[in-house]
Amino acid sequence: MSFDPAQFLPDDLLDRIRERAPIHDRENTFPDRDLAELRDAGYLKILVPTARGGAGLGLEQAAILQQRLATAAPATALAINMHLVWTGVAKVFSDRGVPGLEFVQDGAARGEVFAFGISEGGNDLVLFGSDTAAVPQGDGRYTFTGTKIFTSLAPVWTKLGLHGLDTTSPDAPKLVFAFIDRTDAVTTSDDWDTLGMRATQSRTTRLNGAAAAPEHVVRRIDPGPGPDPIIFGIFSVFELLLASVYTGIARRALDLAVLTVQQRTSKKTGLAYSQDPDIRWRIAGMSLAYDALPPQIAALARDVDEQADNGTRWFTLLSGVKHRAVVMAKDVVDQAILTAGGGSYFSSNELSRLYRDVLAGMFHPSDPESAHATAASALLGPLEG
Ligand SMILES: Cc1cc2nc3c(=O)[nH]c(=O)nc-3n(C[C@H](O)[C@H](O)[C@H](O)COP(=O)(O)OP(=O)(O)OC[C@H]3O[C@@H](n4cnc5c(N)ncnc54)[C@H](O)[C@@H]3O)c2cc1C
Repeated sequence: MSFDPAQFLPDDLLDRIRERAPIHDRENTFPDRDLAELRDAGYLKILVPTARGGAGLGLEQAAILQQRLATAAPATALAINMHLVWTGVAKVFSDRGVPGLEFVQDGAARGEVFAFGISEGGNDLVLFGSDTAAVPQGDGRYTFTGTKIFTSLAPVWTKLGLHGLDTTSPDAPKLVFAFIDRTDAVTTSDDWDTLGMRATQSRTTRLNGAAAAPEHVVRRIDPGPGPDPIIFGIFSVFELLLASVYTGIARRALDLAVLTVQQRTSKKTGLAYSQDPDIRWRIAGMSLAYDALPPQIAALARDVDEQADNGTRWFTLLSGVKHRAVVMAKDVVDQAILTAGGGSYFSSNELSRLYRDVLAGMFHPSDPESAHATAASALLGPLEG
């Protein structure tokens, strides 16, 4: 099947999103119009099967689209990523015949916005543990009390997918994954004022007995690593779509660097900087580094779509591609800044925004420590003692 990214993200839509990006960055606001236009274009349901009203795309195609969106507005792409993660996990479930997340697909098809409420202050167990109390209500409902940090899409989400720890059931402890609505039991702080990725508006979310209906309690699993599809689903979709956002940032930085060196001329030689051998070497290096990532992301995303069996290698492969994408993107943006010269140091210059935005990549799971620990364990076995 031939795939035309412009069918889902037309050039004119991308141009409008690109024009608005510096405004949201400067004013520290959520890109409401980006979201509205993306919703109208069917972007919120790209990963929903056609039978449930979506576009029926695979993760491989979604990854290409997220790279394309990130070239226009990294923060918009990162925020939408969180919604795409849940719809991607729902696709992992339905592709494998695991029931339970159809309501996510139906909700996305209706225009619901799903946020990702996993991160908590000081919880470096991330998916494998939680400081949020998940309390069973005896009727299948759970209530959640705790604080989630960095909740992207904070001003606009309509459903929050989260996890918490059940310590009171007879079979406790269990990690509970569920979806809640936006009610009075949820408070969103206005505390997002960051160096970059400002338009994600990833604010702190306080849960005070926020209830999930029985049909929205999707998983109860043992804390810690395990084979449950919720862990594989989140891990695979999250790492690949994140890698896509940062790879898209690198693509844009490379394009801007190429443009700039064609426009700057040297008084020394009278020639454009694009004729300077040192600059050419630098641009070539950026391209050589960038070119490795899109095929790596595509191959792994296809493996997820086609349910390839990568066994225990999955975790090294997935955390590895996210790590490489971010390290590459950070370096490419750095090189682009050097190539473009002092003009890129001005706040109004797009490269200076990319420089701030790309830094966020290092903080998302899998962070460098976790990616290295996974790779080291795969090669050397677990740490002793
Ligand atoms: C732009 C951006 C968007 C993101 N979007 C999402 C999202 O939508 N959903 C999501 O789940 N995650 C999201 N994340 C979170 C991200 O994946 C990481 O979890 C986050 O960056 C925290 O990283 P850290 O553990 O290194 O931070 P740390 O600096 O260790 O901790 C982060 C904050 O938690 C507090 N803290 C640290 N330790 C403790 C402690 N022991 N007790 C209490 N408080 C403590 C501190 O105030 C600190 O500022 C986003 C991150 C970024 C940068």
